[in-house]
Amino acid sequence: MNRDDTIDLLTAVAARDQRTVGHGDVVAWSVDLAEVSLVEALDAVTAFHQSARAVERRVQAADIVQWVKWSRRQVVEREHTQAELERAREPRQALPPGGALVGSDHSGGRGESASLAELWAEVLPVDCQQKPKGCGQPAGQRCVNPHTLTWTKIPHPIRLLDAGI
Ligand SMILES: [Zn+2]
Repeated sequence: MNRDDTIDLLTAVAARDQRTVGHGDVVAWSVDLAEVSLVEALDAVTAFHQSARAVERRVQAADIVQWVKWSRRQVVEREHTQAELERAREPRQALPPGGALVGSDHSGGRGESASLAELWAEVLPVDCQQKPKGCGQPAGQRCVNPHTLTWTKIPHPIRLLDAGI
């Protein structure tokens, strides 16, 4: 997350817990959250404030990192579960002798696993909500990263929720 994103995030945090945000906070949070996008961090902050923990203490950067890791893991696990189900449905498709899974299940024709394509198929009928939670892409369009303007690999969490996944 860059400096501007971090300021946006800390503004959203301060609105909830009335903390005073200084230059040092912006620098520290942007370092701690280097691997996290603004959309993910805002989702994490919302999740924190909807939990009982918010009664006891203020949200920290570590809470956001943990939540984002958990959230990303959910998607990966769902993908693996799907892949296993597909393998179970097609028992005759044996692995090549001595073959590992590398490069087979996880890269389909377009460099995308079948389960990920299915996940997209499920969320495409719904819009992705406007920022800050989603990227605002309409139904039928895949999500985009607002910073790089490239397609995201996985749908935004809010869109998964809206699609009932
Ligand atoms: Zn989106």
